[in-house]
Amino acid sequence: MAVPDLITAVATAPGLGAIGVLRISGSSLRGLFLPLLGREPEPRRALLVDFLDSRGEAIDQGLAIYFPAPHSYTGEHVLELQGHGGPAVLQRLLKRCVELGARLAEPGEFTRRAFLNDKLDLVQAESVADLIEARSEAAARSALRSLKGAFSHEIHALVADVTALRMLVEACIDFPEEGVDQLEAASAKQRLTELLGRVRAVESAAQQGSLLREGARVALIGRPNVGKSSLLNRLAGEEVAIVTHIPGTTRDVIRQELILDGVPMHILDTAGLREPSDPIERLGIERTREVIRTADLALVVVDIREGLTPEDVRILGEVPRSVGRIIVVNKIDLSSSPAQARDTALGREVRVSALSGEGVDILRREMLKAAGWCAGEEGVFLARARHLEALARVAAHLARAEGRYRELELFAEELRLVQLTLGEITGEVTADDLLGEIFARFCIGK
Ligand code: GDP
Repeated sequence: MAVPDLITAVATAPGLGAIGVLRISGSSLRGLFLPLLGREPEPRRALLVDFLDSRGEAIDQGLAIYFPAPHSYTGEHVLELQGHGGPAVLQRLLKRCVELGARLAEPGEFTRRAFLNDKLDLVQAESVADLIEARSEAAARSALRSLKGAFSHEIHALVADVTALRMLVEACIDFPEEGVDQLEAASAKQRLTELLGRVRAVESAAQQGSLLREGARVALIGRPNVGKSSLLNRLAGEEVAIVTHIPGTTRDVIRQELILDGVPMHILDTAGLREPSDPIERLGIERTREVIRTADLALVVVDIREGLTPEDVRILGEVPRSVGRIIVVNKIDLSSSPAQARDTALGREVRVSALSGEGVDILRREMLKAAGWCAGEEGVFLARARHLEALARVAAHLARAEGRYRELELFAEELRLVQLTLGEITGEVTADDLLGEIFARFCIGK
């Protein structure tokens, strides 16, 4: 195998900061010590030192910490330089490292090396990026759980059970005369059912995690003036959409992100759905229909004074069955109705006042429920679409195996596919191009 070359990057965010960190990783790192630091740093001890240019003059003064392989983030020799956090200083330092033989790291390359050197599996590597990108505390906590190996541990436990079952089945294939009896004796079918149950549990925890990571798309729809913009502002707790008395002004699909209980809600504000009076409005309505079709949840807002008009019923008719729906009956401050949630023939209904804020808490809870969030993030893994897709394939293979346990060869084949698919999640059997795609989405320096 080729010796990995020396890579370097600024690890801290661009811009001014009290401290800026530059990292260098690679097997030939030690060659940099004398020209760059004028001395050998001791392993894992902070050394206050001048970082030197080619003439031996100081570029900056800061801390150098040397992490010898394999006890470093990447598993290689790593040098971390903590200097002053100005872009000019850090760029000069970066240039100096390049002059000394390092090359600029690609996005995620440090973590990719950590993965290749078995410091992390793929799920953990992904959770590094997720932790950095986490936009809520709940998302950060569950990314950290994955980083510490909670998700990987579940997958490894599943792999261990599948392996044990595979060994049994393969043995039965090799000794066919005892075949199925032996399988039955070992209650293979029951073990398979248990396994499927566990996969479904992991799948559901991962689905919750995916919701934390990806959020839900919420279409905000209703006739003009029912209070959609006001409701959005109320949910967001700040003025974002334009509130106006003239019907039809909110023509664009405005995207606003709210974080409810840690779950991102991408609110898609839409044009109304009334009969269009001009071509631009017609365009808006087409877009609204598109938004509704791709949403996870539709909030259909109505005005309590008018109740559900035939037009509202038509709007509700535009919401496909696969999309969750909440009928938000707004402006209860203008009536004697209390804030409440109840089931109606047309779907779940929540009564609120965007103006006074009454009932908006109930609405938040109902939105989370409709988006599929089960309260509490205990045991949730910050999963990605890739993981969910693989877990679904695992469940499908197990279900197929369940129906085939009398045909040993087919049964064995399904189990082999289960194991292979689980391995894709942790990165044991992952194609190179997928790795490239995953790590390319990291920020540089990670
Ligand atoms: P949109 O066209 O559906 O986005 O409606 P807006 O949010 O622009 O609201 C239309 C009008 O209704 C504005 O004058 C708002 O102040 C008013 N409005 C919105 N929500 C409420 C509410 O809960 N109570 C009352 N009394 N007025 C509201």
